[in-house]
Amino acid sequence: MKKEDCIFCKIANGEIPSKTLYEDEEFRVILDLNPATKGHALILPKNHADDLYELSDGQASKIMLLAKKMARQMTENLHCIGMNLVQNNGEAAGQTVRHFHLHLIPRYENDGQQLGWKPCEATQEELEMVRKQIVQ
Ligand code: 5GP
Ligand code: ZN
Repeated sequence: MKKEDCIFCKIANGEIPSKTLYEDEEFRVILDLNPATKGHALILPKNHADDLYELSDGQASKIMLLAKKMARQMTENLHCIGMNLVQNNGEAAGQTVRHFHLHLIPRYENDGQQLGWKPCEATQEELEMVRKQIVQ
Protein backbone atom coordinates (compact mmCIF):
# COMPACT_ATOMS: atom_id res chain seq x y z
CA MET A 1 0.00 0.00 0.00
CA LYS A 2 1.13 3.48 -0.84
CA LYS A 3 0.09 6.62 1.03
CA GLU A 4 -0.72 9.52 -1.24
CA ASP A 5 0.81 12.25 0.90
CA CYS A 6 3.85 10.32 2.14
CA ILE A 7 7.19 11.64 0.87
CA PHE A 8 9.04 8.38 1.54
CA CYS A 9 6.37 6.40 -0.37
CA LYS A 10 7.05 8.67 -3.32
CA ILE A 11 10.83 8.35 -2.97
CA ALA A 12 10.76 4.58 -2.38
CA ASN A 13 8.58 4.07 -5.45
CA GLY A 14 10.68 6.35 -7.66
CA GLU A 15 8.13 9.16 -8.11
CA ILE A 16 10.59 11.55 -6.49
CA PRO A 17 14.22 11.05 -7.51
CA SER A 18 16.78 10.16 -4.89
CA LYS A 19 20.42 9.12 -4.66
CA THR A 20 19.74 5.39 -4.70
CA LEU A 21 22.33 2.91 -3.44
CA TYR A 22 20.21 -0.22 -3.82
CA GLU A 23 16.76 -1.21 -5.04
CA ASP A 24 14.72 -4.39 -5.26
CA GLU A 25 11.01 -5.22 -5.39
CA GLU A 26 10.43 -4.40 -1.74
CA PHE A 27 13.06 -1.85 -0.71
CA ARG A 28 15.05 1.18 -1.76
CA VAL A 29 18.18 2.38 0.01
CA ILE A 30 18.89 6.10 -0.43
CA LEU A 31 21.31 8.73 0.77
CA ASP A 32 19.87 10.99 3.47
CA LEU A 33 19.36 14.55 2.22
CA ASN A 34 20.92 16.01 5.38
CA PRO A 35 23.59 13.46 6.26
CA ALA A 36 25.00 13.11 9.76
CA THR A 37 28.20 11.80 8.14
CA LYS A 38 29.43 10.96 4.66
CA GLY A 39 27.32 8.07 3.33
CA HIS A 40 24.40 8.39 5.79
CA ALA A 41 21.78 6.16 4.20
CA LEU A 42 18.16 5.17 4.79
CA ILE A 43 16.53 1.81 4.10
CA LEU A 44 12.94 2.37 2.98
CA PRO A 45 10.29 -0.29 2.37
CA LYS A 46 8.29 0.45 -0.81
CA ASN A 47 5.07 -0.45 1.00
CA HIS A 48 3.94 2.12 3.50
CA ALA A 49 4.38 1.27 7.19
CA ASP A 50 4.29 4.10 9.75
CA ASP A 51 6.92 2.50 11.94
CA LEU A 52 8.46 -0.75 13.18
CA TYR A 53 5.16 -1.96 14.64
CA GLU A 54 3.45 -1.85 11.25
CA LEU A 55 6.10 -3.84 9.39
CA SER A 56 5.34 -7.45 8.52
CA ASP A 57 7.59 -10.03 10.18
CA GLY A 58 8.95 -10.90 6.74
CA GLN A 59 9.92 -7.32 5.99
CA ALA A 60 11.39 -6.77 9.43
CA SER A 61 13.67 -9.79 8.93
CA LYS A 62 14.70 -8.77 5.44
CA ILE A 63 15.56 -5.24 6.56
CA MET A 64 18.20 -6.49 9.00
CA LEU A 65 19.76 -8.68 6.32
CA LEU A 66 19.79 -5.75 3.91
CA ALA A 67 21.31 -3.52 6.60
CA LYS A 68 24.12 -6.04 7.06
CA LYS A 69 24.79 -6.18 3.33
CA MET A 70 24.73 -2.39 2.92
CA ALA A 71 26.87 -1.79 6.01
CA ARG A 72 29.51 -4.17 4.65
CA GLN A 73 29.50 -2.51 1.22
CA MET A 74 29.64 0.99 2.68
CA THR A 75 32.44 0.08 5.06
CA GLU A 76 34.47 -1.45 2.26
CA ASN A 77 34.02 1.46 -0.14
CA LEU A 78 33.88 4.46 2.20
CA HIS A 79 36.54 3.16 4.60
CA CYS A 80 34.49 4.15 7.62
CA ILE A 81 35.59 2.68 10.93
CA GLY A 82 32.17 2.17 12.53
CA MET A 83 28.47 2.11 11.67
CA ASN A 84 25.44 3.16 13.71
CA LEU A 85 22.04 1.67 12.93
CA VAL A 86 19.34 4.04 14.18
CA GLN A 87 15.59 3.61 13.90
CA ASN A 88 13.18 6.07 15.47
CA ASN A 89 9.55 5.21 16.27
CA GLY A 90 7.22 8.04 17.21
CA GLU A 91 7.72 11.75 17.60
CA ALA A 92 9.02 11.38 21.15
CA ALA A 93 11.77 9.14 19.81
CA GLY A 94 12.74 11.65 17.14
CA GLN A 95 10.82 10.23 14.18
CA THR A 96 10.13 13.11 11.81
CA VAL A 97 8.96 11.13 8.76
CA ARG A 98 6.12 8.68 9.48
CA HIS A 99 7.25 6.03 7.02
CA PHE A 100 9.51 3.36 8.48
CA HIS A 101 13.20 3.93 7.78
CA LEU A 102 16.39 2.51 9.17
CA HIS A 103 19.33 4.88 9.30
CA LEU A 104 22.79 3.56 8.42
CA ILE A 105 25.30 6.09 9.70
CA PRO A 106 28.96 5.46 8.84
CA ARG A 107 31.38 6.65 11.51
CA TYR A 108 34.82 8.13 11.04
CA GLU A 109 37.62 9.27 13.29
CA ASN A 110 36.69 12.70 14.73
CA ASP A 111 33.50 12.93 12.65
CA GLY A 112 32.02 15.36 15.16
CA GLN A 113 28.82 13.36 15.62
CA GLN A 114 27.43 12.22 18.93
CA LEU A 115 24.72 9.59 18.82
CA GLY A 116 23.46 8.20 22.03
CA TRP A 117 21.93 8.89 25.39
CA LYS A 118 22.83 10.03 28.85
CA PRO A 119 23.26 6.89 31.01
CA CYS A 120 21.29 7.12 34.27
CA GLU A 121 21.61 5.28 37.58
CA ALA A 122 19.25 2.42 38.44
CA THR A 123 19.20 0.13 41.47
CA GLN A 124 18.78 -3.64 41.14
CA GLU A 125 15.26 -3.22 42.65
CA GLU A 126 14.31 -0.64 40.05
CA LEU A 127 15.62 -2.85 37.26
CA GLU A 128 13.64 -5.79 38.64
CA MET A 129 10.43 -3.72 38.79
CA VAL A 130 10.87 -2.71 35.16
CA ARG A 131 11.68 -6.26 34.14
CA LYS A 132 8.43 -7.48 35.77
CA GLN A 133 6.44 -4.69 34.14
CA ILE A 134 7.71 -5.66 30.70
CA VAL A 135 7.37 -9.43 30.94
CA GLN A 136 4.07 -9.53 32.93
P1 5GP B 1 13.86 10.53 11.39
O1 5GP B 1 14.16 11.72 12.24
O2 5GP B 1 12.40 10.45 11.02
O3 5GP B 1 14.37 9.24 11.98
O4 5GP B 1 14.70 10.71 10.08
C1 5GP B 1 14.23 11.32 8.94
C2 5GP B 1 15.42 11.49 8.02
O5 5GP B 1 14.97 11.68 6.70
C3 5GP B 1 16.31 12.69 8.37
O6 5GP B 1 17.64 12.24 8.58
C4 5GP B 1 16.18 13.60 7.14
O7 5GP B 1 17.40 14.24 6.83
C5 5GP B 1 15.77 12.63 6.06
N1 5GP B 1 14.93 13.21 5.02
C6 5GP B 1 13.82 13.96 5.20
N2 5GP B 1 13.27 14.28 4.01
C7 5GP B 1 14.06 13.71 3.07
C8 5GP B 1 13.99 13.68 1.63
O8 5GP B 1 13.12 14.27 0.99
N3 5GP B 1 14.97 12.98 0.98
C9 5GP B 1 15.96 12.32 1.67
N4 5GP B 1 16.87 11.67 0.94
N5 5GP B 1 16.04 12.33 3.01
C10 5GP B 1 15.11 13.02 3.70
ZN1 ZN C 1 4.91 6.04 3.08
